[in-house]
Amino acid sequence: MSQATNNTLPNKAAQTSVGKMRQTASAMFDNQNLQQLSVAQLPETTHTHLDLTHVIDCVLVTHFHLDHCGALPYFTEAVGYSGPIIATAPTKAIIPLMLEDFRKVSVAQKKEDNCFNSDMIKNCISKISTISLHETITLCNGEMKITAYYAGHVLGAAMFYIECNGESLVYTGDYNMSADRHLGAAWINKLRPDVVLTETTYATTIRDSKRSREREFLKQVHATLDKGGKVLIPVFALGRAQELCILLETYWNRTGLDYPIYFSGGLTEKANFYYKLFINWTNEKIKKTFIKKNMFNFSHVRQFDQSMLKIDKPMVFFATPGMLHGGLSLQTFKEWAPFEKNAVIIPGYCMPGTVGNKILSGEKKITIDDKVVHVKMQVYNMSFSAHADSKGIMELLSHLEPKNVILVHGEKDKMRQLQHKIKE
Ligand SMILES: [Zn+2]
Repeated sequence: MSQATNNTLPNKAAQTSVGKMRQTASAMFDNQNLQQLSVAQLPETTHTHLDLTHVIDCVLVTHFHLDHCGALPYFTEAVGYSGPIIATAPTKAIIPLMLEDFRKVSVAQKKEDNCFNSDMIKNCISKISTISLHETITLCNGEMKITAYYAGHVLGAAMFYIECNGESLVYTGDYNMSADRHLGAAWINKLRPDVVLTETTYATTIRDSKRSREREFLKQVHATLDKGGKVLIPVFALGRAQELCILLETYWNRTGLDYPIYFSGGLTEKANFYYKLFINWTNEKIKKTFIKKNMFNFSHVRQFDQSMLKIDKPMVFFATPGMLHGGLSLQTFKEWAPFEKNAVIIPGYCMPGTVGNKILSGEKKITIDDKVVHVKMQVYNMSFSAHADSKGIMELLSHLEPKNVILVHGEKDKMRQLQHKIKE
């Protein structure tokens, strides 16, 4: 089929890209490691004298996840990049929530002193121009054209098609090839570009059917509650949280269950507001029914407060962050882990090194803040992650028919395996 290259670093990926497009690709914040972005990874803001505006034509932000936008205020306000920045309207609206939350955690909890401040976030966001789906924006005196396509994944996520001097590239960002309960599937024209730069989070995983995954999830939640246990579901505030809430709400309504479902507040409430605001970006079913009933008005979901951590009653708790690497989800895990009747359901990807990753690989003794936690609770991994699986990636590549493929945003060994498969 086509040439496949795998690269773990975005810059490297960019180097193998073509002609002038090198400059666009290099500006994409696409590094798996930034999922747990730490301010310490950024160079000192005070003595940065890089002038990137004249070497980068444009910054494209595919979606609001921090590994794709976390360095943006640093880039515009500290490094001083002043060229165009393009994102969809929901992405532009939600990015400041994510950045502000990230800033608070970095400054207040991790005591980082090199982080951007709120004004820098505000200034940075005001520099973003929005693009609609299927809209084409022309840059560089007409030399470069950028078109956005629906990527699924999270609210507002887009793929970008870039044409420049007769060469073309599709940058996928993160995408999902199948619709879920709140978003549609990725959709893009058959573009036959010179290069596709694709994410490969699930380079080698093939997921079972969505329906059986949902059935399994509901079965485990219900069984745990019926025997008096508590269910912890670590999530990121936007995305899987809404997807699984819709699933539980529908099930609760159908079966008449009334166990409480809690959500760690703040960010999630704001997030639900944006889902309602950008209802056009959700899937067909939600769009059709929202006049009668907005699916994001959850009737069984209540706000969690800290005192409930110690209450011995069955409940479902959605807590952030999703990889159990800090915050309320980790705090809850420490409290609930020693009890066999409780369960933790990990619905997404967990990076190596996180507590989420450790319990998924079967570790039963985990040291958190110098204390050993004995994991007796049930541990389930059900991938509700909104990334394309290996089949989905291949499906997109066969559809696009690119001349070259660059793999990013994945684990090296798995990318290598996928590379062989693509070359076949
Ligand atoms: Zn993402």
